Amino acid sequence: MSHYDHHQFGFSTRAIHAGQEPDPLTGAVTVPLYQTSTYAQEAIGVHKGFEYARTQNPTRFAWEASMANLEQGCAGFAFGSGMAAIDAVMRLLSSGDHVICAEDMYGGTFRLFDKVLKRFGVEFSVVDMTNLDDVKSAIRPSTTFIYTESPTNPMMKLTDIAALASIAHEANALLIVDNTFASPYAQKPLALGADIVLHSATKYLGGHSDLVSGIVVAKEPEIAEQLRFIQNAAGAVPGPMECWLCLRSIKTLSIRMKQHAENAMAIAEYCEQHPAISATHYPGLPTHPQYALAKQQMTGFGGMISIELGSLEQAKKFTTSVKLFTLAESLGGVESLVCHPVSMTHGSIPKEQREKLGITDGLVRLSCGIEDKEDLLADIAQALDALS
Ligand SMILES: *Cc1c(COP(=O)(O)O)cnc(C)c1O
Repeated sequence: MSHYDHHQFGFSTRAIHAGQEPDPLTGAVTVPLYQTSTYAQEAIGVHKGFEYARTQNPTRFAWEASMANLEQGCAGFAFGSGMAAIDAVMRLLSSGDHVICAEDMYGGTFRLFDKVLKRFGVEFSVVDMTNLDDVKSAIRPSTTFIYTESPTNPMMKLTDIAALASIAHEANALLIVDNTFASPYAQKPLALGADIVLHSATKYLGGHSDLVSGIVVAKEPEIAEQLRFIQNAAGAVPGPMECWLCLRSIKTLSIRMKQHAENAMAIAEYCEQHPAISATHYPGLPTHPQYALAKQQMTGFGGMISIELGSLEQAKKFTTSVKLFTLAESLGGVESLVCHPVSMTHGSIPKEQREKLGITDGLVRLSCGIEDKEDLLADIAQALDALS
């Protein structure tokens, strides 16, 4: 574990230094990219602690140490994608175990649970995590995990992480939080009581839309040891290049997240008063139903907004009228993106369920990048003007 203690150093300092000390061999100030599959051994059983690169890679170790520090956990484990990270965490379970999960999870996570893990005898209850009584009444003797995301995609609903942690621990279960939307800059689930936090590093951690990767951080050594075993046994590790890019990106996470949030706040305020938009979902708006919770458990509100334009027609017009917002899936990069959840990311969710959640044909999701705020506002304004 790094000596960059979170009591002594601030988040931005740790994002630059923790796990990223100068190379002891040469003094290189950036962690070298160890693009190797194996390591020379001096004699049988005599080596430098590195034997084979699925198990040990110095570039990956640096990235894992950096994230363990930023999420205030005891150890980090990197994976080839966000889904591989989630899959590895779910391998802590055994047949017959029960998981309570959020009804508005990332679609790929729902698919993994529903189409793959169910076949292995893991049972799931899908609940509205904003209703803590629903969570409590879903608890069974076999409940092993409570699994949640906050804010959720695309409705930007929050779950009370500290309250969920109490419910989980009372039931002898673990709380797992997918922190992809907030990033550790804006939210620290382990400090709020969660046991495992995970990310699609493809989004804000990578931050430049140029890689696919995932990371898990455990709070306690006992769980960390099980995850270390699974990471090596199942082997869904990322290559060193992805880890190196993540190490490079994490140094600017603070400054990027500040700008993402500043731009998103200005855009959300603009959208909220615009007559062509009937609802604006952003946790930084005082009108967000969980604004008080957002202020309490987050240290920033992120760059994601959803807006309701009323119809598929209007959504089509808007998404083709914007010029700086590129129509694409994914989020969290420096460039602004726009997406139509119903036809792009949430197509696999049954229409009835989708509409219950508020994911309508007219809903559009914005990933606000870090371009000049004035340019983004002008782009949104001209696209909205084109609607009427
Ligand atoms: C993208 C995403 C994932 C999946 O991550 P990949 O890197 O695409 O495998 C999981 N959870 C959330 C919230 C995401 O946005």
